Amino acid sequence: ERFVSPVADGEEKVIEAALRPKRLDEFIGQARVREQLSLVLHSALRRGRPPDHLLMSGPPGLGKTTLAMIIASELGMPLRISSGPAIERAGDLAAVLSTLSEGEVLFLDEIHRMARPAEEMLYVAMEDFRVDVVVGKGPGATAIPLDIAPFTLVGATTRAGLLPAPLRDRFGFVAHMDFYEPADLERIIHRSARLLDVRMDDDGAAEIARRARGTPRIANRLLRRVRDYAEVRADGVITVEVARQALTLYEVDADGLDRLDRSVLEALLVKFGGGPVGLSTLAVAVGEEPETVEVVAEPFLVRKGFIARTPRGRIATPAAWRHLGLAPPPTVEGTLF
Ligand code: ATP
Repeated sequence: ERFVSPVADGEEKVIEAALRPKRLDEFIGQARVREQLSLVLHSALRRGRPPDHLLMSGPPGLGKTTLAMIIASELGMPLRISSGPAIERAGDLAAVLSTLSEGEVLFLDEIHRMARPAEEMLYVAMEDFRVDVVVGKGPGATAIPLDIAPFTLVGATTRAGLLPAPLRDRFGFVAHMDFYEPADLERIIHRSARLLDVRMDDDGAAEIARRARGTPRIANRLLRRVRDYAEVRADGVITVEVARQALTLYEVDADGLDRLDRSVLEALLVKFGGGPVGLSTLAVAVGEEPETVEVVAEPFLVRKGFIARTPRGRIATPAAWRHLGLAPPPTVEGTLF
């Protein structure tokens, strides 16, 4: 697993639970989403009815699960958690839906990965609070309608574009989560440090925030590793120097790039003179599968403005040359940008 991966492994999920904000006003950043959600929840509470179904879309590690938990707790309702991949058949979904209590919040993570027949069952459940349970097989099969308790669906997806329109349209509200600003990440890191009983100064927090790729999950992970370093190699306090030394040891550079990101960038610059170069040629040069380069390294490099995808292949931007401390060929500064 990559140290800067935005995805959590099983064990990390347990550690993360202790750091989750429990109420909306403890949730840091994403001001627009927070305000929109606050309105939706308060008006539902006033009316005494469950709110519309809510969809959260955005990259992993930005706090979708945390928000789902907050929604349930703000509504004072229980939360049931499942995910698209766990629902392989319509029957799996029927089992969940038919046991929900009135007003319960159902969180479906990775909702875009649900099996198609289950998806169709979900449309009806969302709209009419009913499931059609099919009994029997072949021509003799009959659908028996079963009323279910009104519930609130909170769906999460990293790929809103992959959701079929009928499903997307049944959500009354879509929260678009975006990467966090460094100042918000700093506040998250300070909050986590307090909860973990770690001493840290402002510059130390700022240094970790700069390298956290706009993602709270990565920020919290970097914080834990820097804490280890501070305890073993320093006097326990996270300062800017301690943060820098620790993160250099873990090969996370000043902009949050790790070894894979840097090797892709280096190959593009040094072996291919800044491109354009095709994905598979680039992948061979760094000894990785094209998919790894495309899915794991490239999105962040593109977001940082180090790489551009063009119809002729990948090209490096002047910022990429500067980042690796190399002089760009004159054409890069002059003609391409
Ligand atoms: P995934 O879909 O991969 O599970 P996610 O978007 O659901 O990711 P969470 O699991 O909610 O992300 O959050 C990851 C970690 O980051 C948690 O420990 C959570 O407490 C922390 N976190 C996320 N957003 C915030 C925030 N706004 N303020 C404080 N901590 C946050």
